[in-house]
Amino acid sequence: MCPGCDIAVALHETRSAQPPLLELVKDAAGAASGRPARPRPEPTEPGVPEPDEEGPLYIARRKIYPQRVKGTYRTIKWIVLFVTLGIYYGLPFVRWDRGPNAPDQAVLIDFPNRRFYFFFIEIWPQEVYYLTGLLILAAMTLFLMNAVAGRVWCGYLCPQTVWTDLFQSIERWVEGDRRAHLQRDKEPWTVDRLARSGLKHFLWLMVAWWTGGAWVLYFADAPTLVKELATFEAPLIAYLWIAILTFTTYVLAGHMREQVCVYMCPWPRIQAALTDEYALNVTYRYDRGEPRGSVKKNAALRARGEPAGDCVDCYQCVYVCPTGVDIRNGPDLGCIQCGLCIDACDAVMAKIGRPARLIAYDTDLNIKRRQSGELPQVRIVRMRTILYAAVIAVVATVMLYALATRQSEGISVIHDRNPVFVRLSDGELRNGFTVRILNKSLERRSFVLTVDGLPDLDLKVVGDTVTTGRTAVVSVGPDQTFELRALVSTYSPLPPAASVPLTFRISDTKTGRQASAVDHFRGP
Ligand code: SF4
Ligand code: SF4
Repeated sequence: MCPGCDIAVALHETRSAQPPLLELVKDAAGAASGRPARPRPEPTEPGVPEPDEEGPLYIARRKIYPQRVKGTYRTIKWIVLFVTLGIYYGLPFVRWDRGPNAPDQAVLIDFPNRRFYFFFIEIWPQEVYYLTGLLILAAMTLFLMNAVAGRVWCGYLCPQTVWTDLFQSIERWVEGDRRAHLQRDKEPWTVDRLARSGLKHFLWLMVAWWTGGAWVLYFADAPTLVKELATFEAPLIAYLWIAILTFTTYVLAGHMREQVCVYMCPWPRIQAALTDEYALNVTYRYDRGEPRGSVKKNAALRARGEPAGDCVDCYQCVYVCPTGVDIRNGPDLGCIQCGLCIDACDAVMAKIGRPARLIAYDTDLNIKRRQSGELPQVRIVRMRTILYAAVIAVVATVMLYALATRQSEGISVIHDRNPVFVRLSDGELRNGFTVRILNKSLERRSFVLTVDGLPDLDLKVVGDTVTTGRTAVVSVGPDQTFELRALVSTYSPLPPAASVPLTFRISDTKTGRQASAVDHFRGP
């Protein structure tokens, strides 16, 4: 049975007993992986009781005090944090010269003019399919990351992780590391405790406020909006969005933290259905770690030639975990695969003179292979990773081709609905059309509009244009559209219920670049 079904069956069968949901998920996931049952960890915080087996369906949240840690994965997380936040906060101020008739902000979502600017790319509303392509690329990249290294997105790149990491770092800086913070939380409220708590919440609110502030800068010229915000001349909607995002950032990253990952985010559930036994996950190598025991006890066991594991049960891996998971209990919904427990355990192994990577990015399959005397395997290249990579390559190529061959002019035509045709007193038959001409370049252009499809066709354009016979000259401003009414007439006899295809074509008077659209001339 698949891990998801195991979890569902376990939940159903044990519902009457109502043990805590998270514990059930952990048990079922552990059983599905084929791991031996592990003893429950001791309470993360002294004085907090373990959930009662007969307890409520949902356990109360235990406050987590993640301990500071140093190591390879912590360094990677710092780099990712600074790069991603640097991009988020700084990008609105990056300038990109597009000439005099377009904004010079590199990334801008221009709702009033219905444009999206991304460096040299300008997307019009008609080109929303680029967004579809981007979404497919994002989904496939996420699937590929998951197939290679599990929830690596969650551990390093997810905004919830990045901001929570930042908020926890501020907390440690103000309140002290885990032990000091735990101690302080047990003490009565003093001036020092109040001051530290006040400073922490103030700094959190500042970060949250700047996060909301940076968000609105993507929707208007950033330097101008900053000035307007400072002088209270910005639109009300900007202040509203800043307030909403300040509140959500403060609550999600400051207070809810790991609860967002465990209870609110759908990705862990989807990810569990997409993974396979070859995906590298943060894994406690229980083949090496068990039986766990104190340094002295295990040394004594080794001296007597009895089996002794490398795990000294020091709980450092649990104390550094931002979601409070004990990875030694096996796969866990709360584990975001950040690798901080690897750093913590490596430091312990170095101190006690045992090899590093008791916890590592590995697979349960490899543990079983090692137990049966086989060499471990890392299979990054397999059918699903090849398929995901192929879809990414195809979609990216199609998008690049579409961008490279993108036309800077366009035309769309809509036939009048009512009346569909008009018979004039002299016998002439007339159809009306609404024609929209698009000029995507950043300079004014003139287009010759022609209509073909009927032998004695006559074109009249309503408005400020020059019309002769079946052609009209239309001027369209830079980066704009121009809408006109076109009346197409004919004296030709038409068959009953005629529907003759008409081709509307525009041709740039300078460059000769063309675009066309087809509609129909209708008769009685
Ligand atoms: S840090 Fe390593 S040695 Fe310590 S409890 Fe965790 S797995 Fe065992
Ligand atoms: S168990 Fe390890 S990898 Fe998983 S969230 Fe905790 S520290 Fe990160």
